[in-house]
Amino acid sequence: MPDEYSRYLQSLNDKQREAACSDISIPLMIVAGPGSGKTSTMVGRVLMLLNEGVSPSNILAMTFTTAAASEMRERICAVAGKARAKELTISTFHSFSLQLCRSHAEKIERTAEFLIYGHGQQRRAIIEAVRLLENEKSGQQHNSCKSSGIENSNGVRHFKDRSKKWQKFVIQAKASGRTPEDCRKMGDQIGAEVLGNYNDILRSCNALDYHDLIICSVKLLTEYDAVYKECQDSWKAIIVDEFQDTSATQYRLLRILASHNHITVVGDDDQSIFSFNGADISGFDSFRKDFTSYKEIRLVRNYRSTRSIVEAASCLIQNNTKRCPSKNFLSENAYGSKITIKECYNEDAQCAFVVDKILEIASNSTAGSSSYGNIAILYRRQVTGRVFQTTLRNRKIPFNLHGVAFYRKKVVRAIIAMLKTTLPTCDDSPYRKVFKALLPLEKEEKKRVIEHVEKITECRKCSFISAACDIFNAKISGTFKRSQLTQGRKVLQTLEMISRLVRRKYLLEQRAVIDVDGGKLLNEDNDVRSVLEYLLDDVSDFLSTQSTDRKEKIETGEEKGSVSLLNSFIDYITERERENFRSRRRDNENSVTLTTIHQSKGLEWDTVFIVKANETEIPLLHEFNGAATENGTSLEEERRLLYVAMSRARQKLFILYVTVDSNWQMLQPSRFLKEIPDHLREIQAEVTRNDLKTTHQVIAKGTERFSMDLPSKKQSIEADMVQNNFPDAQDGASKETIESVEACNGSNFLKRFGVEERS
Ligand code: ATP
Ligand code: MG
Repeated sequence: MPDEYSRYLQSLNDKQREAACSDISIPLMIVAGPGSGKTSTMVGRVLMLLNEGVSPSNILAMTFTTAAASEMRERICAVAGKARAKELTISTFHSFSLQLCRSHAEKIERTAEFLIYGHGQQRRAIIEAVRLLENEKSGQQHNSCKSSGIENSNGVRHFKDRSKKWQKFVIQAKASGRTPEDCRKMGDQIGAEVLGNYNDILRSCNALDYHDLIICSVKLLTEYDAVYKECQDSWKAIIVDEFQDTSATQYRLLRILASHNHITVVGDDDQSIFSFNGADISGFDSFRKDFTSYKEIRLVRNYRSTRSIVEAASCLIQNNTKRCPSKNFLSENAYGSKITIKECYNEDAQCAFVVDKILEIASNSTAGSSSYGNIAILYRRQVTGRVFQTTLRNRKIPFNLHGVAFYRKKVVRAIIAMLKTTLPTCDDSPYRKVFKALLPLEKEEKKRVIEHVEKITECRKCSFISAACDIFNAKISGTFKRSQLTQGRKVLQTLEMISRLVRRKYLLEQRAVIDVDGGKLLNEDNDVRSVLEYLLDDVSDFLSTQSTDRKEKIETGEEKGSVSLLNSFIDYITERERENFRSRRRDNENSVTLTTIHQSKGLEWDTVFIVKANETEIPLLHEFNGAATENGTSLEEERRLLYVAMSRARQKLFILYVTVDSNWQMLQPSRFLKEIPDHLREIQAEVTRNDLKTTHQVIAKGTERFSMDLPSKKQSIEADMVQNNFPDAQDGASKETIESVEACNGSNFLKRFGVEERS
C-alpha cells in the first residue's frame, strides 16, 4: 500500500478504519452525527478500494451538492494525487443522471440536446399545463390570444398564484415517483391531468426537469438491459455521502445501480434539510430492508468542533421528536469559548459587527496563515448575503463567490441562456430570457414592452424573437416611446452579437478570443465583462473535470468546439446555476466564504457567523416552501437547518439576529436560540455605541419616512438613550429627531427603549 494511503488510514479511529476497510461485498451503512468523520471515512474507503485494485474509473461516489462533490474530490486529491482523483467519478445525483439521459436520449423520447428546465421554466410549463386543463374544461380553444389570458394581466397573476401550489404538487409527485396513472388510481383525477399535461409539454419542448432526470435514469435501467449492463460493468463500487437527502426515486436509482450489493452509504438523519425537494429519510429504513446482509457502523465522536459547540448543537436537536433514537454524540475536545449570541438593530448593524470581528480575527492571526479562508458567513436566504458582499468589497476583504448569487445575476443568466440557444430546440425561451434581462427599462415600462411582444408572439404564432425584431425594427407600428424602441433595438443587436460569438464556439476554443471580443463587444458594460471572466474560470474548471482521454481530444483538436463538448459545458454550468454554486477560485483561497446554510453541508470553518437567525428566517414561515407549520414536521426540519449551520464551526460560533427589518417592522429572534443552554452561550444584547450610531441613522430615516406629530413620551426615551450612552442624546438636533420618531404611530424602535405604542 502506498505510504500516503496507510498514513491516512492510520489517522482514522478504529471504527472509522473498520468501516473504510470492510469487505466491499457487504453493503455498508454509516449513521453518525456531524463532524464525526463520515466523509473522512468515505475517503478512506475509496483509498482502500484503489489499493485492492479496483480501477478508479469503476468507482462512483455520489453526493448531494456540487459543493460536497468538490470537497470530496479535494480530500481524495490530497492523498491519492490529482491524476487518480480525476479518474474517479464523483458526481451529484443530477449530473450522473444527466449524463446517462444524454447518452440514451432517444429511449426517453428526447434528442441528445434536450433542455433542462429549472425552477422558473418548470413553473411556466406548469402554468401552461393548468391552463390547458381549464381550457379543455371550458371548451375554449387553446392558443388564441383571448384564451391565453395574456391580454389580461390579472388572469396571468391568478394562474401564477395557483401554479405555485401545483409546482409543489409536481415536485412531490416526481420525487416519490408518482405517474399520472398513479394519481388516477389514488382518485386524484385533476392531479393526474395536470401532471400528464406537464409531461406532454416538456416532451414537446424536448426538455426534462431535474426530477425527470432521475426518473428517466430509473426507466433506462429497468427497461433496457443493455443500459443496465453498461452501468453494472462501469460501476463496481458505489459510495453515497449525505444519504439522508436522497429522495425515493434517487433511492430507487441507487438500488438498481447497486444490485451487486457493493454499496456504502453514509448519512445523518438529523441533517436532512432538503425535504422541500423531495428528500426522504425513510431511505435508511429502505436500505435496511433491501440490502439484507448489510452492516451498520456508528461513529460517535465529533472531531470537528469545540465541546461547547457540540453540546449546544446536541441540546438543540434533542428537541426534535423524529430522529434515530440511539444516536449518541460526544466530543473530547476542550470546551473553548462560549457561543456568542448577538442582537443587532438591523442588518446594517449586523454587517458592521461581523466585518469588525473579521478584521479583528485577521489582525490576530499569525502571518502567512489563511485567516480569511477560515471564516464563513452563513444565512438562510441569498438576499441576506447582499449587504455582506457590498461591505466586504468596500472594506477590501476578499470573499469567495461560493454560493453567492452569481448565477442569478441577470447578465449571467442571459449569457447562459445564449449558450443554450446554440442547441437545436423548438423552444425560444432562452431568447426571451436574454431579452428581458438586457432590456434597460424601468420595471413597469419593461413589463409593458414584454407583454406587448408576447401578445404579438401569441397572435402571429411566431417566435418571441421574431416578434421583437418586427416591433423594434418598426415593421409593426407599436405604441412605444422612442426611447423604448431604441433600447429594444440595442438589445437585439447585443443579442445578435453574443449569439454570433457563441455560435463561433470561441468560448471553448480560445479563452483569449472571447476575452478580447467579449471585452470589445461589451466595452461599456463592466459587469458583463467581469461576468465573462468568471465564466471563463468556469470553462477552466470544467475542463479540469474532464477525463484525460477527453482532454487529449480537446487539445489535439479532435473535439474542438464540437456541440457535444459545448453541451457538456452547458450541463456543467446549468447544475451550478441550479445550486447557485461557484467553486473557490484558486487565487482566492484566503477569502471569507459567504454561503447559504443549505450549501454549507459537509463543509467546516474555524469561525462561523450565522446571520439573521430570526423568526421569518429560521424557521422560515412560508406558505409553500417546505411550509414550516407551527407543530409540523417541517418545523423539525427548520431546527435541523440551524443544527447543520451550528455544526460547521470548529472553534468559534457567532449567532446573530436583528431587531428591525428594512420596513421598520420588529423582528423576533429565532425561537430555537432559547434551546441553547445558558452555560454554553453568552448573550450580547446590550446597546453599544455602534448600534446607537445605526439607530441614529434609523431614526433619521424614520424622520424622512413618517409624518410628525409631537409626542408625549420624549423624556423617557431621552432618559433611556442617555443612560445607554447615546452619544448625542442631549443635543438639540437629536432631541428633535427623537420627538419626530416617537411621533410615528407604532414605530418599532420605540419599543427598543421600552416605550409603549400609542393607541
Ligand atoms: P458532516 O456531517 O458535517 O458532513 P462528517 O461526519 O462528514 O461531517 P468529516 O468532515 O469527515 O465529518 O470530519 C470532520 C473533521 O474531523 C474534519 O476536519 C476531519 O479531518 C476531522 N476528523 C475526522 N476523523 C478524524 C480522526 N479520526 N482524527 C482526527 N480528526 C478527524
Ligand atoms: Mg461529511
